[in-house]
Amino acid sequence: MKLDNMPSLQSDAVIIGAGHNSLACAAHLVAKGWSVELFEQAATLGGAVKTAGLTLPGFRHDWAAMNLSPFAGSSFFSNYNKDLIHNGLELIPVAKPFASAFPDGNWLGVSNNAEVTTARIASFSEKDAETWATLTTEFPAKAEHIVRVLGSRMNLSANALMTFNILRKAGISGSLSLARFLMSSPRQWLDEIFVSEQVKATLAAWGMHLDFAPDIAGGAVYPYLEAMSGQAFGMVLGKGGADTIIKAMGRMIEACGGRIECNAPVVRILHSGGRASGVLLADGRRVHAKKAVIANVAPHALARMTGGTGSSSYDTAIARFNHAPGTMMIHLAMQDLPDWKASPELREFAYVHMAPSMDQMARTYQQARAGLLPDEPVIVCGQPTAIDPSRAPSGKHVLWLQVRMVPGDIRGDAGGEITATDWAEAGEAFAERVLGILESYAPGTRRKIQAQRIVTPAELEAENPNLVGGDQICGSHHLTQNFLFRPARGHADGTTPIKNLYHTGAAVWPGAGTGAGPGFLLAQKLAGN
Ligand SMILES: Cc1cc2nc3c(=O)[nH]c(=O)nc-3n(C[C@H](O)[C@H](O)[C@H](O)COP(=O)(O)OP(=O)(O)OC[C@H]3O[C@@H](n4cnc5c(N)ncnc54)[C@H](O)[C@@H]3O)c2cc1C
Repeated sequence: MKLDNMPSLQSDAVIIGAGHNSLACAAHLVAKGWSVELFEQAATLGGAVKTAGLTLPGFRHDWAAMNLSPFAGSSFFSNYNKDLIHNGLELIPVAKPFASAFPDGNWLGVSNNAEVTTARIASFSEKDAETWATLTTEFPAKAEHIVRVLGSRMNLSANALMTFNILRKAGISGSLSLARFLMSSPRQWLDEIFVSEQVKATLAAWGMHLDFAPDIAGGAVYPYLEAMSGQAFGMVLGKGGADTIIKAMGRMIEACGGRIECNAPVVRILHSGGRASGVLLADGRRVHAKKAVIANVAPHALARMTGGTGSSSYDTAIARFNHAPGTMMIHLAMQDLPDWKASPELREFAYVHMAPSMDQMARTYQQARAGLLPDEPVIVCGQPTAIDPSRAPSGKHVLWLQVRMVPGDIRGDAGGEITATDWAEAGEAFAERVLGILESYAPGTRRKIQAQRIVTPAELEAENPNLVGGDQICGSHHLTQNFLFRPARGHADGTTPIKNLYHTGAAVWPGAGTGAGPGFLLAQKLAGN
């Protein structure tokens, strides 16, 4: 194709990719009067937030993200909730967010009633119930400091202000305790304060949603926050599917004149003399940007698309950017919800974790890191239709099985049964292992399956290149790649060494999840507020 003959377009900002961070960024920019165009390589918007009929007619499945609590708690949502609702956003509160089932028939659930949750914990350990009650009382004050850190812009002046505010409120001793906590691994923190191994496992399972296996430094904060905020606020799902946020943001952007194009892969970022001027699409079109080219892509892809930025320290940091192990999804169309052996009450929880001990989680993580299919992977069983029946025909259900963690490239099988090393061949056999585990916790579940759709890590990446090797968080959040270092030191605010080229998405601080932080922080920076 002769590139020079293609039409040349021009707007204030061109955004590569239409994940929810790009959409939040675009929504804010168009609201501030910018002209914005988004180009998405996939057939539909949303990236890791999509809902589709993946099995039988009438069943709607969240392709990837299901839990929208980070979005509902975000500053983007607090700024734009009226516009989002006006554009069709519907969120559903969940009173019973998560639970863990155990092979010995025990279970522990956290619901948004502190007395009920504390009583459940007391059945494991009276001492742990006392600790939980103390954590609950201290949560509002502690959360204020943690949210200050996690919501910070991560530049020097913002960090100085954040440190000053925390020191002023918490004092030196409180600030040092907070710093120690932020560096702790889940196991360190849980072993220090709880007695019951099952209470510890129930919380530690949240670390596995990111890449914080029990022994990874910096991971304690995630189980803490998920447990405490799950109790304080419950969980939030999208009515009809998580894509309610995507549809609403898409409408907001188009209503303000923004333009979104799907099936439009961007292959190159145009720049010269240290300044970005636009993008080259796979079909040969060049689209120029007056003020900003914003790339919601994985760091290695950014390097490929620029051909290098000219800054060796930045290019080296980006080349070293690490991805976390992958995820496999299994979507099930169900006759009914599982009959959990531990308790019928488990049918009412949004998530049931099958992550029986911290040792099992640590083993799974190490196996996945070593390229092995785990012998006993962690399973998050999402039961969205327990809360939102609109996602399935009357009386029927969907299950969302998130399998953590798995290798992107298979080198072997820790279970010693699967010989295939290609996901296209290994996927089904590994899914059988997962369904076998589910069956052991909820006998009879297999009989209730009407249809299933396996999504391997390879397929996640094929649909969305940001999910490298099925890495659902677009890059490890371990300490060396978090905070000031996400994705590279000096660039946690989305700037790059190329003028007018900005990086956004889960690879950029504050990282993965549906909280829209990277996109909204960048848009505020660009628009000046
Ligand atoms: C299986 C799974 C389950 C998850 N569960 C949850 C959950 O329950 N709750 C939660 O909060 N978070 C969850 N997450 C994480 C969360 O969904 C992601 O961190 C978040 O959605 C990332 O959003 P984003 O906008 O940064 O990027 P993405 O959603 O990854 O979007 C990036 C977009 O850019 C497009 N793109 C990339 N390269 C190009 C190119 N060259 N040209 C054009 N387009 C391009 C991609 O196709 C994609 O659409 C989950 C993720 C996965 C994968």
